[in-house]
Order: sequence, then C-alpha cells, then structure tokens
Amino acid sequence: MRRIAAGVAVLLALVVAVLAGRAAWLAPYTVDASPPDPDVASASFGVDRFAAALRFPTISTQDSATFVPGPFLALHDWLRTAFPALHGRLTREVVAGYSLLYTWPGSDSTLDPMLLMGHLDVVPVEPGTESRWKHAPFGGEVADGFVWGRGTLDDKASVIAILEAVEWLVGQGFQPRRTIYLAFGHDEELGGRAGAARLAELVRQRSGRLAFLLDEGGVIAEGLVPGVDRPVALIGVVEKGSIGVHLTVERTGGHSSMPPRHTAVGVLSRAITRLEDNPMPARLTPVVEEMFRRIAPEMPFGYRIPLANLWAFRPVLVRAMAGNERIGAMLRTTTAATMVSGSPKENVLPIIARGLVNFRILPGDTPEGVLDHVRRTVGDTSVHVEGSGRASSPVADFEAPEFRVVEKTIVQLFPTAVPVPFLMIAATDTRHYEGLTRNVYRFNPIVATPELASGAHGTNERVRADDFARAARFFAQLIRNAQ
Ligand SMILES: [Zn+2]
Repeated sequence: MRRIAAGVAVLLALVVAVLAGRAAWLAPYTVDASPPDPDVASASFGVDRFAAALRFPTISTQDSATFVPGPFLALHDWLRTAFPALHGRLTREVVAGYSLLYTWPGSDSTLDPMLLMGHLDVVPVEPGTESRWKHAPFGGEVADGFVWGRGTLDDKASVIAILEAVEWLVGQGFQPRRTIYLAFGHDEELGGRAGAARLAELVRQRSGRLAFLLDEGGVIAEGLVPGVDRPVALIGVVEKGSIGVHLTVERTGGHSSMPPRHTAVGVLSRAITRLEDNPMPARLTPVVEEMFRRIAPEMPFGYRIPLANLWAFRPVLVRAMAGNERIGAMLRTTTAATMVSGSPKENVLPIIARGLVNFRILPGDTPEGVLDHVRRTVGDTSVHVEGSGRASSPVADFEAPEFRVVEKTIVQLFPTAVPVPFLMIAATDTRHYEGLTRNVYRFNPIVATPELASGAHGTNERVRADDFARAARFFAQLIRNAQ
C-alpha cells in the first residue's frame, strides 16, 4: 500500500515537473531583423499634413441621402498640393466618385504588385457627445503630444503615413521593382460596396494577382494583455464572417384584455433567451492558438503553465477564456440579439413579432451551420428562422515569406514588440480583394493602449504624434523590404 502511495507521489511530482518545466523553458518568440535603414531611421516626419487631413469631415452616414460629398472632393484636391512629389510620380485615379487609386509602376513587370490600402471616410460623432471631446473632432489639433480628431486611429493615420512614406521615397529617388498600388476607399464604414469593390475590380483587371496586401486592422497593443509588458503587434490574418438571423413569430392578434398564455412577443423572447443561454461551442482555431503560443513566454508563470501545456489544459483553458467577453469573441461564433419589434400599441396583441440576432462567424463555422444551430436551439417550429450571411475570410498563411517581411519590418521599427497572427472580430474592406492574393494582412503600425483604442468610433480619438512619425517610417521601410 505504502509503495503504491509512494509511486503515485513520484508520478504526480513528475507530472508537475513536466508542466512547470515546459512553462519555464518557453522561449520568447524572436524575429531576425536588422536595424532599419539609417536614412529611414533618421527621416523626420511631421504631423502637419496628418492634422490637416483630419479637418476634412469625410463622414460616412448610414443614410446615403445625407451623404455630403464636398469634404471628399476637397480632401482629394488638397492631397494633390500637399504631396507634390508623389503626385508627380504616381498615376492617380478617382474611382467611384470619391475613392482614390494610385499606381507606382515597378521596373520589373515579372514581379507581382503589392497593395497598401486604407479608407478616407470616418464615422460621425454621436450627436450630443461633441462637448466630451477635449479638442474639436474635426479641428485637427495637436496638443499634449497627441494629434486629436475623428479618424486619427480609424483610418487617416494609416492613409497619411502611407502618403508621407511614398512622398519621402520619391524624394530619395527610390524606384520600386514591384508595382505598388495605393487604394483608399471612401465607404469602408458602410461596407465598401461602392469604393473598395470598384477599386478591387480595377486592380483585378490590371494585375490579376498581388504579392500581398496590407490594410487597417490590428495595432501595436500596449497593456492589452494582462501581465504582458512587451507590446504585441497584432497582424490580422483572418476576419470573422457575419449573419443576421431573422426570427418571426405570427399569432392571431386581438385586444390585450384577453391574451393567450404566450403572445408572439413572449414566444420570440423565449427563443432569444435560449439562443443567449446556448452559444455555439468555443474552440481554439489555429490562428488564435499560434497567437497565444507566441505571447505565452511573455506572460506571468501562472498563465504559462496552462498555455505551455495545451495537451493537458486545452478544455479547461478554452472554458475559462470563453467566459471573457473580449477573448471569448475570438474563440466562438458569437450571438448578439440586437433588434426586436412587436405590436405598435400597448393594448394591441402583436400579430407579428420580429427579432434580429447577429452572429459573428468563427473560421470553420458557416452561415448554414448557424441557421441549423438556431433552429435546433430554439426548438419551436412556430418560430420562423431565416437569414443570409458570409463565412469568415480565407486564412492568410502566417509562415509565408510575405508575412515574414511584414513581421521583420514591425520588429525593425518596434524592436520590443512581439508580432503575432490575429483573428479580426471586426470587418475591413479586404473582403472585396479576395482571390487576388492569399497574403492579406490587416495591421496599423500605430500604438494603442486600451484607453486610446476606445477612441476609435468613440470620444477623444487620438494618436501620439511620435507614433505617427514611426508609422510613416514603417511604411517607407516596408516598401523597401518588399522589393
Ligand atoms: Zn477603419
């Protein structure tokens, strides 16, 4: 008996030693990168043009009837005078009325072109919240080391930093070997159906294939992951799909003084509650697993034990992480009931109750799979279920040489950052470019803390002035590295 107990103790000690050993010897993720080119490192990029671009209220409104075209056209005109070297060297086309496509022809036509993209439009400032801004949202003010305004993070820092980089490179006499496209849509915040769709069509007609494309997406995240001091460069390699599922319940109407036990609204509510209580299963997809694999060595020892030993902890870890709103969204197809309607008056029984539930679809799940899940979970044939949507984007290869170029450039400009592949839970314009390349990356070379990140689509949107200059250097170095 004592021998068995001793045996169990030894075995336990061994398991603990293995778990702890694996956690202790996790090697940090490293990328081989030389310092940036000396002229790139010492190039000075001011924020004047960035700040000026913010003063054009290029707003995307939900209702196209209230669209104001003037600021877009004024921004186009201003860009021509603000970036003279670029406009002297690249061809510029206005596409779909308000989007811009620039082409910088490469010297070697056998190389596939690269494409840098962004968007010119911004979301409106929520009426009634203007006074919460420390600096006017369309004032383009520089104060306290920040550039303030709607569109700084999303997405004018990227657009203007790309233009700064190209203006500088042209001035240096740089000639790309690979053709470079710059594509700036005007309706990203509405889905890009006019701008990005048409831009992509033109690129498809002219080139058919791209080496890679880089759009907005992940950022250099500081303080986003608890216990991790190093900044994490989130490179979006896939984005979730989406489907709006319409639930409809029909009943005979009548006066509310003589109601049935469950009205159409009651039946609809029960269906929605069941969906909220029974989400689709959570799991670690390969991209998210790789993200955690690279971040794990930076985490406190307690976190490292489960992450270094997924073979033992996977189910427990998935369950724990799925409970967190932010991380959970990366582990499963999410369920969000967003709209409901019933009878138009208090004393009228609803004849039709409608609900809309938005699901953001994880790679591997499908719109049809979501509809099946909804029918099964609701389990009530009197609730009519229908909807159409799209699956997630294809997953970019994070071992590809093009990914390595992006990763290397990040480490050159942000030497302490850990670059990781990242699952985007929001959508970008990249879906219109599907089929042109597998190498679709979504990354803004902008530093964001949780506080700064809340400014995108929110209040007091701003970017550190120094970070803007570094973003311009990033794009200049990236263009050089990608030749
Ligand atoms: Zn954006």
